[in-house]
Amino acid sequence: MTGIELVRGDITEQSVDAIVNAANSSLLGGGGVDGAIHRRGGPEILAECRKLRASHYGKGLRTGQAVATTAGRLDARWVIHTVGPVHSSSEDRSELLASCYRESLRIADELGARTVAFPAISAGIFGWPMDDAARVAVGTVRDTETAVTEVRFVLFDEPAYEAFAARVD
Ligand code: ADP
Repeated sequence: MTGIELVRGDITEQSVDAIVNAANSSLLGGGGVDGAIHRRGGPEILAECRKLRASHYGKGLRTGQAVATTAGRLDARWVIHTVGPVHSSSEDRSELLASCYRESLRIADELGARTVAFPAISAGIFGWPMDDAARVAVGTVRDTETAVTEVRFVLFDEPAYEAFAARVD
């Protein structure tokens, strides 16, 4: 059984086995969660991302996929980088968003991670409405078979926390 916990705060301050990064396909850093993880985690993470890019992802990591690095100075063993879809009002991309959660949990299982912190993937720069981002996030984690015992959603502000709380209650 995977327990779901909600925390209001900064994902880079979490003590968990794996922290999920809302990355972009370049794997070379960006704003939001991505920027915060690289700032606080130090240059080691970016160096590993560059190597992954060169060795496996010449065209970038595809939307809905996930890949792990170590976690540098963060209080975690791994960072799992996943690329959320940019929200579209003309096309339903929720299956790609669900894939981010499923693939991140699959990688967590491969690594042996038991506690995993997720941000609200795609709900920042990528424009996904928070209520719907919470619906996909919570629904997908509930429907995914995994050995992860705790999924911790780390929500940056009160509206995000409330949107997730409405889905968990
Ligand atoms: P995306 O590009 O996938 O939309 P963002 O990083 O822009 O990703 O935003 C995803 C969500 O994470 C947004 O709700 C944003 O407010 C939130 N966020 C930004 N920084 C942090 C942080 N340090 N910890 C947790 N959540 C964060």
